[in-house]
Amino acid sequence: MTARLRDLPSTDRLLGTRASVGLIATYGRPLTVAALRATLDEVRSNVRAGTAGKIPVNADLVTRTASLLARWTAPPLQPVINATGVILHTNLGRAPLSGAATRAVVEALNGYSTLEYDLERGGRGSRLDRVEGILQRLTGAEGAVVVNNNAAALLLLLATLAKGKRVVVSRTQLVEIGGGFRVPDVMRQSGARMTEIGTTNRVHLQDYQRATEEPTALVLVAHRSNFRLVGFTEEPGLAEIVQLCKLRGVPLVYDLGSGALLDTAKYGLAHEPMVQEALRAGVDLVAFSADKLLGGPQAGIILGKAELVSAIKRHPMARALRADKTCLAALGATLVHYLRGEAAEQIPVWRMVALKPRQLRQRAEAMRRDLGKGEVIRGESAVGGGSLPGDTLPTYLLALPQSSPEKLMQALRFQSPPIIARTKDNRVLIDPRTILPGQEEMLLAGVRKALQEVAP
Ligand SMILES: *Cc1c(COP(=O)(O)O)cnc(C)c1O
Repeated sequence: MTARLRDLPSTDRLLGTRASVGLIATYGRPLTVAALRATLDEVRSNVRAGTAGKIPVNADLVTRTASLLARWTAPPLQPVINATGVILHTNLGRAPLSGAATRAVVEALNGYSTLEYDLERGGRGSRLDRVEGILQRLTGAEGAVVVNNNAAALLLLLATLAKGKRVVVSRTQLVEIGGGFRVPDVMRQSGARMTEIGTTNRVHLQDYQRATEEPTALVLVAHRSNFRLVGFTEEPGLAEIVQLCKLRGVPLVYDLGSGALLDTAKYGLAHEPMVQEALRAGVDLVAFSADKLLGGPQAGIILGKAELVSAIKRHPMARALRADKTCLAALGATLVHYLRGEAAEQIPVWRMVALKPRQLRQRAEAMRRDLGKGEVIRGESAVGGGSLPGDTLPTYLLALPQSSPEKLMQALRFQSPPIIARTKDNRVLIDPRTILPGQEEMLLAGVRKALQEVAP
């Protein structure tokens, strides 16, 4: 028996069913009607194509409509459990915020705030004053600007200081930052003319000397945040470039990428260049992301010489790229952790970096005991997010042997909340490092369920 179009119920008919009434109560009538129509349209085109089989019964049609409505109204961001061990996972939203930063965001959104209001004067204030003050205190910088992200920071500072002028940058430092975005392409959009010096693997002080003999708006140094330069390589030290730039009277700008305020070397990692160091070395401006090792919200921070910073603030593009109130609320609260000397304890990124192998082993073993499955093995976690490329932190993993790891990975992704893990050698690996406090129970329940679902 083939399906016939005239056996398909009308939208009105389906709307009258009891189940539809429930949908209308949840989603409202117009959206429910649209979803019923979409469901019927799909069946109709299947019937025309001869792929429909039998016409589904009304209850099935309403069930399909319900899942369509659930998909249409699902929030764009779904919380997930990060079991990958990559602390700054760009696809999973980079840095999770501290409790205080999260509360600050909620408070800023729930009502009105002093975003651009000066309580003392009873009138208009600057949205950057508070955060700028904290950044000055923390780093000794003369001034600060906060914009949408680091790419915006670079775009804005180049547009202000180098539009139509020469910017000298070494070929050893031209990075693609993911998603196909290349830093030099972003920079060119500012109207600056990029003059590349050196080769892919080597650049000498003489290259900088020769390049700055011609009129130059600025010299840009970029941190190689996502790759390593090894082998037959050379770059002059920062101090030498600083000295040359001072001699020439050319501003030196340093794209730090991650912009650490704490020393990663204290945690068994390589030393990531620090904001304070760069400024102390005499760099005129630094730019970095706030949601990498800083552990805050998405933002780009420019710090440095007062005169340059105030020119940047006045550029018309500063308005287009400015940070919003949620960002400033979260950033302020995050920076206060550093001021109080409690960053390593309060900021999730640093707490995860600081976890000791012994603690991770205990957690992995506890998971194994609870599940009664798998094996605890040594492994590596990564900082990720364009920080410390190739550098890892020793960890212990729960390894779940699986004939089809991809199937288990998918089952884990379909849990609520979804669990994102990684695979190696036919095993699914769960890294306790990036599982946040309070997520353990949910993780175990999800893993247990996923294992059952893929059991033969
Ligand atoms: C991450 C990174 C950027 C881009 O920063 P966003 O905040 O993601 O825009 C630019 N430069 C370097 C060196 C980086 O590591």
